[in-house]
Amino acid sequence: MIAELRSITDIWKRMPSEMHARRFLERIIWSTGRHCPHCGSFASSALRGRTCRPGLYQCRDFRLQFTVTTLTPMQGTKLDFRIWICAMFLVFTSSKGISSVVMARLLGVNQKTAWKMGHAIREMMDDRNGELMPLEDIVEVDEAYVGGAPKSLSGAYNPSGKGTGKPMIFVAASRDGQARARVVPNDQRATLELVLLEWIDPATTNLMTDGSKSYRSLGKTMADHQYVIHSQKEYANPETGAHVNTAEAVISQVQRALVGVYHNLGRKHLQRYLDEIVWRWNHREPVREVVKQWRTKAGIERDKSTTIWRPIPVVDQMHVLLQSAVGKQVRRSKEYGLCWP
Ligand SMILES: [Zn+2]
Repeated sequence: MIAELRSITDIWKRMPSEMHARRFLERIIWSTGRHCPHCGSFASSALRGRTCRPGLYQCRDFRLQFTVTTLTPMQGTKLDFRIWICAMFLVFTSSKGISSVVMARLLGVNQKTAWKMGHAIREMMDDRNGELMPLEDIVEVDEAYVGGAPKSLSGAYNPSGKGTGKPMIFVAASRDGQARARVVPNDQRATLELVLLEWIDPATTNLMTDGSKSYRSLGKTMADHQYVIHSQKEYANPETGAHVNTAEAVISQVQRALVGVYHNLGRKHLQRYLDEIVWRWNHREPVREVVKQWRTKAGIERDKSTTIWRPIPVVDQMHVLLQSAVGKQVRRSKEYGLCWP
């Protein structure tokens, strides 16, 4: 079993033919044993013969045929599986995301193909099956309005923040390294509460927010609530430990990806890009702690510790990604876009 893939060349070296890549994917997707994605049966046999594609199986219960990609966003692909593995490698390892133009150039496919692969991978990254680690203890939440200036105004006046018609994103991050992000229609308490309750358990959560009104009333339903008032230039409260720097760090990842990589991002696809950015955030591990010493203006020595994080191994990420892939189909629409059945 391949334990880690270190580079694109490594992928092609370890998988000299497409069959190797298919076996690699099969071992991941069917890590508990080959089973039929239609009915779940573990009794199946390989279909052999000249007319059969390699990797085609048939379940014994309902005689349904399937391959490793059936009912996943990769279903019906004509691409070499090694290209798919490389595409996943690029998405996992590009710290701010990778545009379809760059991916197309690196993999030798056309841009539309790369764009579709990117979206298929992001589709597998969403957490609809609830596999992410829970948000616990201290959870920071914050919101942001994202996106650039409208096309007609590009390079000109680009207002930011509330009331500009830009999509609003709502972010929650626990201080132990897990995060969530969602595109939401507005910042009213009812809207935010519905989303937040999907992510956390109010009975055990210590919520950290800024001082906005929605959060103050929302905080009353939590085990504990602390806030900092940004409009009074309060960004951290050393006594209560209140700050929302973790949530703001997630938001800045989003802003950087949107400015630097995914320009002209449609509102339609925004959630999927958020899923990708949050995926990378959630699949890291702490490597070490760096302690910096500094002196305040009053001359007091203080320590500031920062945790250095690195992404978990690519093959481990593929395990998580592909094990929740079944049931997340993406189809090609007639207009060469995407549609979700
Ligand atoms: Zn079946």
